[in-house]
Parts: sequence; structure tokens; C-alpha cells
Amino acid sequence: MTQERKVALVTGASRGIGAAIAQQLIQDGYFVVGTATSESGAEKISATFAENGAGRVLDVRDGAAIDALVTDIEQNFGSVMILVNNAGITKDNLLLRMSEDDWDDILNIHLKAVFRLSKRVLKGMTKARFGRIINISSVVAHFANPGQANYSAAKAGIEAFSRSLAKEMGSRQITVNCIAPGFIATEMTEQLSEDIRKKMSDQVALSRFGEPKDIANAVSFLASDKASYITGTVLHVNGGLYMA
Ligand code: NAP
Repeated sequence: MTQERKVALVTGASRGIGAAIAQQLIQDGYFVVGTATSESGAEKISATFAENGAGRVLDVRDGAAIDALVTDIEQNFGSVMILVNNAGITKDNLLLRMSEDDWDDILNIHLKAVFRLSKRVLKGMTKARFGRIINISSVVAHFANPGQANYSAAKAGIEAFSRSLAKEMGSRQITVNCIAPGFIATEMTEQLSEDIRKKMSDQVALSRFGEPKDIANAVSFLASDKASYITGTVLHVNGGLYMA
């Protein structure tokens, strides 16, 4: 089956920010493939998206699985024209207590996966002379947070990677941008105590956490024709927590 609609791939679409991004891209008229780490998560995505997309299993640490997934998408739906690298976790700890495994895992899930997925979809985008790669970074790539040396290094790496790739692919009309969310209300931030959450929102100019929808709206813009002359940039969506 080849889709009339442009195909978008959103990693980590089972919940939180990725689920909101996928729903927004469906509303925008794309055919959306969303990933989860489990079969049940992928089935739930397929059921929710219905004829507007499909759910697939993916662990972004697995290079062979990335290759197989993109091949499956190309054969069944068409080349990926919009890639949203969203999947991610945190493994916070002070550096003195951080294990090498926790360092490697965060660098693999965030930075290496962005390298692998971007590289894999570029062939189809180059052929189409069109593409949008949108990487979900974080305010902590810019704004220091103790206990997140691994995560902030990975996110800063994603931003630098995106600028290089934007230069490499610009002549093919492939844009590469990042969105740096501030504190967004998802399971990732629900793990924090009420007290810490209150202290965090006190630092935000708008005095509240953002919603996944706030990030989805930014993705919708960067994927659209309205953003066709924007590449190599970081769009901060943080309610005024950090002003670049
Ligand atoms: P979340 O609610 O915890 O959801 C994480 C998503 O990533 C889930 O879909 C999960 O799939 C998937 N995932 C986890 N490990 C994976 C792996 N190894 N391979 C593939 N997928 C994996 O997180 P979120 O808050 O929406 O965060 C989404 C993105 O925004 C992340 O990149 C995060 O760093 C970034 N971000 C979040 C905030 C915030 O305040 N929430 C702020 C700045 C940046 P399963 O459901 O199958 O586990």
C-alpha cells in the first residue's frame, strides 16, 4: 500500500509528548507510524490511529530494529518524510554516583538513536527533495540541572548534531530542527514529588508546567510548509523558564 498522505514517524508515541505529537500530525493530515517498546503498546497505537496510521514496536537502542522498521514502513506505507525523534527516558544521578551503564544508556537512547534514525530515513528524503527531521531536545541542554549530566550532554549533542545535519542536507530541502521543551506534565515529570514540582513551576514565567499539546503544536509548525525556511534552529517551548 502506498499512501497518498505524507508518512510521519514518531518514536515513543505510546504516551506523553510523543502521543500528543502523533495525534496532532494525524489532524494535520499525515499518515503516522508511532512506536512503543512493547507489543501491547504498539497494538494500542494501531487501534487509536485506525486508518490514519500504525503502531510498531521499537527499542531505539537496537540499530537492526531501526533498519527493519524503516524498511517495513517504506514497503507498506511509503518513505518517511517527517521524522520526529521523541523517545526518551531519564536516569538521573549525581555524577559521583552515576554508573557507566546509566551514562551509556542515556547517550544511546537519545543521541545515538537520533543519528541512526536520521541516517536511515535520509535516502528517501533525498530522493523526494523534501524532508523534516524534528528532534525533541530539552531545556537542560541550555539550563543546568544537577543530576542530569548524562541527559543534558545527550540533549546538547542532539542540538549540535542537528545543526551539522541541517547544513549537510539543506540543498535537498531537508530541514533539521530541535524543540527544547521546559517542564511538561507527563509521566517523566509525574515521578517528581509535589514539593519539587512546585519549586520547578515557580521558576517558570508562566507559573505552570506545559502540556504535551504545547510541544505537539511546535512540531506541527516545524513540519508544515510555513516552516520551510527554518533549519538548524532550536525552538524553545518552556513558558519562559529559560530565555535564550
Ligand atoms: P514519557 O511520557 O516518559 O514517554 C516516553 C516515551 O518514550 C514512551 O513512548 C516510551 O515507550 C518511549 N521509550 C522509552 N524508552 C524507549 C526506548 N529505549 N526505545 C524506544 N522508545 C522508548 O516521556 P515524555 O515526557 O513524553 O518525553 C518525551 C521526550 O521529551 C523525551 O525525549 C524527553 O527527553 C523530552 N522532554 C521531556 C520533558 C518533560 O518535562 N516531560 C522536558 C524536556 C524534554 P513505552 O511507553 O513503550 O515505554
